[in-house]
Amino acid sequence: MPTQNQAPLATLEQTDAFIARHIGPSAAEQQAMLKELGVADLDQLITQTVPEDILVKSPINLPDSRTEEEVLTYLKSVAAKNKINTSMIGMGYTDTIVPNVILRNVLENPGWYTAYTPYQPEVSQGRLEAILNFQTMVLDLTGLDLANASLLDESTAAAEAMTLCKRMSKAKKANTFLIDKNVHPQNISVIETRAEPLGYEVIVGDVAELIDQHECFGVLVQYPGTFGDVNDYAELIEKAHDKKALFCAAADIMSLVTLKSPGEMGADVVFGSAQRFGVPMGFGGPHAAFFATRDAYKRSVPGRIIGVSVDSRGNKALRMAMQTREQHIRREKATSNICTAQVLLANMAGFYAVYHGPQGLKTIAGRINRFASILAKGLQSKGVELVNQSWFDTITIKLDNAEAVYSKALEAGINLRNTGDNQLGMTCDECTSRETINTLWDCILGEDHGLNLEQIDAEIAASGENSYAANLARESEILTHPVFNSYHSETEMLRYLKKLENKDISLAHSMIALGSCTMKLNATAEMIPVTWPEFGKLHPFAPMDQAQGYKQLIDELEEQLKAITGFDAVCMQPNSGAQGEYAGLLAIRKYHQANGDGHRNICLIPTSAHGTNPASAALADMKVVLTACDENGNVDVADLRAKAEQHKDDLSCLMITYPSTHGVYEEDIREICQIVHDNGGQVYMDGANLNAQVAVSQPAEIGADVSHMNLHKTFCIPHGGGGPGMGPIGIKAHLAPFVANHPIQQIDGPNPENGAVSAAPWGSASILPISWVYIALMGGTGLRAATENAILNANYLSKKLGEHYPVLYTGRNDRVAHECIIDMRPLKESSGITEEDVAKRLMDFGFHAPTMSFPVAGTLMIEPTESESKAELDRFIEAMAQIREEIGQVEDGDIDAENNPLRNAPHTMADLIGGDWDRPYSFEQGAFPVARLHTSKVWPTVNRIDNVYGDRNLFCSCIPVEDYAE
Ligand SMILES: *Cc1c(COP(=O)(O)O)cnc(C)c1O
Repeated sequence: MPTQNQAPLATLEQTDAFIARHIGPSAAEQQAMLKELGVADLDQLITQTVPEDILVKSPINLPDSRTEEEVLTYLKSVAAKNKINTSMIGMGYTDTIVPNVILRNVLENPGWYTAYTPYQPEVSQGRLEAILNFQTMVLDLTGLDLANASLLDESTAAAEAMTLCKRMSKAKKANTFLIDKNVHPQNISVIETRAEPLGYEVIVGDVAELIDQHECFGVLVQYPGTFGDVNDYAELIEKAHDKKALFCAAADIMSLVTLKSPGEMGADVVFGSAQRFGVPMGFGGPHAAFFATRDAYKRSVPGRIIGVSVDSRGNKALRMAMQTREQHIRREKATSNICTAQVLLANMAGFYAVYHGPQGLKTIAGRINRFASILAKGLQSKGVELVNQSWFDTITIKLDNAEAVYSKALEAGINLRNTGDNQLGMTCDECTSRETINTLWDCILGEDHGLNLEQIDAEIAASGENSYAANLARESEILTHPVFNSYHSETEMLRYLKKLENKDISLAHSMIALGSCTMKLNATAEMIPVTWPEFGKLHPFAPMDQAQGYKQLIDELEEQLKAITGFDAVCMQPNSGAQGEYAGLLAIRKYHQANGDGHRNICLIPTSAHGTNPASAALADMKVVLTACDENGNVDVADLRAKAEQHKDDLSCLMITYPSTHGVYEEDIREICQIVHDNGGQVYMDGANLNAQVAVSQPAEIGADVSHMNLHKTFCIPHGGGGPGMGPIGIKAHLAPFVANHPIQQIDGPNPENGAVSAAPWGSASILPISWVYIALMGGTGLRAATENAILNANYLSKKLGEHYPVLYTGRNDRVAHECIIDMRPLKESSGITEEDVAKRLMDFGFHAPTMSFPVAGTLMIEPTESESKAELDRFIEAMAQIREEIGQVEDGDIDAENNPLRNAPHTMADLIGGDWDRPYSFEQGAFPVARLHTSKVWPTVNRIDNVYGDRNLFCSCIPVEDYAE
C-alpha cells in the first residue's frame, strides 16, 4: 500500500465519487452479500438472474459519471439560459412568494419530501394532518362539503370534474358537456382529450346561450374567467340544475379569499390550482390541484381523501378514507386512474394558509386586487378599452397597437398574455409592485402619461367600491379553525412544522422497502436545483426564447432516457405513471385509427397488474381482457396466446409490467411481445420496475412500443408523501406522431392537432432537474452498478428472509429481480397473525412496512433498492426474524392469540402512560423489541387505527378542538 503522500493524484481525486454515495453497500458489504448468495461477482449474479436474450450487448451510451460539484456547476450554466421576466401571463399560473420557513423546512427538507404515501397512517400522522389542513382550507374557500387530498393539475382536475358529472348527473340520456369560452385553453384541451375516447360531446361557447340549446350532463365555467371577468353564476346554475346537469367551476384559489364561493352560488364541483399559495410556477409544476364537491357525490370523488377515524384507544387519528373508490381496488371500474398525486405541494399550500392565516390571506388577496384595479383605472382614465368590466387580478385590454405594446413590455422585462387578436391580458399577483404597474403604463400609454399611482389608489380606497358586483364579495368567514390562527410567528410555525414532521417515518429514519415504489436515495445534490429561481420563476407559457435553459435540460433528459430505454422519442407531458399509461394508450389508439384499425379496442392485462393499468385502459375506451399467471407468478403464455389469437381482429394492445409485479424477470418476455405484435397489437410496458432494467436491458429492445418511466421511482424524484411524480413515456418512432401536444406551447414532434393530457406542455418541469442530475452523476457505469446492486440487495433479502418466511415467487436459479414477495398466508393459517399485524409491528422496530397485499393478497412485497447498505438490510432482517419468532410463540400457544405484541402493535407512549398495562409481555418488549431502539426510537403517535370506523363516520376536515379534549 502506498502511503497517503505516495498515492497518485488520480486516486486522491476519487473521494467524492457520487456512485459510491448513491449505492448503499460498500465494496466489502457487496462481497459479503455475494458470498452469501454463492456467486463470485455482480456479473455472475446478473447472468443468473436476467434472461440471456434480453441482456444488453454493450454498455449504454451515456457520458461518464461526474462529481456533484461539476454537475451542479454545469447545470447552473444551463439554468442561467432561462430569462426571468415579471410574469403577468396569468392563465392559472402566477408568481408567488414561498414563505422561507416553508421553503426550507418542507420543500427542502427530506423529512417531508422523502416520505411515502400515507398507507401506514400510524407513522404518517404529521403529513396526514397537513393534508387535512389543505382539505379544510379548500372546503372553506370553495364553499363545498368534501375535498380530496389533491389532483395532478387544474386541467386534469377539470377532466375529472367532467367524468364525475357524467357519473352523478341524473340527466342520464345527456351526452354533452358544456364549457364556457372563458375557461383557460389548456383546461379545454385536456377535457377534449379525455372526452373523445369516452364518447362525450364537448361544446365550447357562451354557456349562458348554450344551456338553452342543449341537453347536457355538466357545465363548466372559469371563476374568474380566463380574461379576468368575475361573474355571478347563480342563475346559470339554477338552469343547469333544472336540466339535471351538474355545474362545475374552475376557480382561482386566491380570488376565493375575497369572492363569494361558487359553492355558495350552488355549484356542484369546484376545483383549481393551489399553485399561487406558495408554490413556484416552475415552468408548469408540480402544483397541487384542489377538488371539492357535495357530500352526495363522495363515492364518486377521484383521488385520495384524508379522513378522521379513531385508534384502538379511541383517540382521534387520521387515515386515507374510502379507498374502495380507488383504482387499486376497483380497477377498470374505478372513478379515476389517479395514483400518485401532489401531496408535498398540497402540504405547502395548506401551510401557506396556516402561516398567513385568514387575515394575512385577505391582505395578500386585497393587495393583488388593488394593483389590478389601479392598473385598470389608470388605463381607463386614458381611454384604453377594457375587455372585462369586472376583475379580481386580471384585466384584458383591446389595443390597435397590441403587438407593439407586447414587445415593449417584453423589453421592459414583463411578459403579458398576447391572445393574438389585439388583446393583451395582464394578471397581478403576490409579487406585483408599484414599479410593475408604472412600467406597464409606460409601455401602454407612453412615458408621458402623467398617471399618479398613489392618487388613483386613494381614489379607489375612498370610493369603497369593489372591482366586481357587490353581491359577489365574500361574506362568509374563512379559515376559522385554530390551526389557521395559531402559527403566525416564524417560531411558532417552525415548531408546528417540526412537530408534524416528527410524527412520521421518512427515508431520513430508515429504509422504506416499498415494493414497486422504489424508495431509493433522493440525493441532496439532485434536489438543490429544484429551488433555484432560474427554474422556479418561469411561467409554463413564457416565450420559448426565455426558456432556453429548460429546453436544453429537457432535451438532454430526453436523450438520457432514450439511451437508457432504447426508445426513439420521449413525451415529457404526463405528471405521473398513471397519466403516462393513459397518454401511451391514447397514442396506441390514435395509431390504430390512423391505420384504419379504429375498431381495435381489446387491452390484454395480466391479473398481476397494478390497478392503474385497467383504470387507464378504461379511460382510453379499451375493453380489458385479463390473462392468467402461472404458479410461478409468470404470465401464462399459453393463455395469453389464446386470448391474443381469439381477439386478433380487435386487439389493441397488451399492458405488461417488466420485470413483473411478482418480482421476476419473465424468461418469455420477447415471445410475449412477439405474440401481441403477430396479432396486430401494440405492447405497452408499465415501467414502474425500470429500476431492474436500467443499463441491463432495454424496454424498446425487448419489444415494447411505448412505456412510461416513473421518474419518482427509478430516477430519484422523491415521493413527497404521495407526490409529486413524473411519468414521461418513451415511444417507438411509429407512435411518435400520436402523443400529446399542447394548445399554447407547441411541442416539436407530435402532430400539432393532438390535444394535451396535462395542463403544462412538459408536465411538472421543475422536478426534471432531479432525474437529470441523477443520470449525470451516475453515468452509464454508475447506472449499471445501481441496477446490479438493487438486484443484489433484493436477492440477499430474499435469501435471508427466506430462512423465516416463504418467498412466493422466484425465477431461474431461484433468483428474484429487484424485489421479493413473502407469503404471510400460511402463517395467518397457523397463527391468525396477518400481514397487517406484521406491518404494524415493524413500526415498533422503527420501520415502515413494505407493500401490503399487492400484487397478491396476504403478502408483503419488499424492494430494498440499491441505496440501502447491508447494515440497514440486516437491521430489517433482524426485525423480521424476531417478528417470526413472535408469530411462532402464538403458533405454539406460548402467548395469547389476541393479546400479544403483534396484535397490539404499534406500541405508543399512550400505552405506557395509560396506567392500564395488563399484557402478558413487558412494555419493554412491546416498544423496544431490540436494544438499538433504546438510543434512537421513532414513536408512532397513535395506536392501531380503525379503518372501518373512519369510512362509516366520514369526516374529512380539521377536527374541532373540543373533540381533542375527549
Ligand atoms: C407506481 C405504479 C404505477 C402508477 O404510477 P403513479 O406514478 O403512481 O401513477 C403503475 N404501475 C405500477 C406497477 C406501479 O408500481
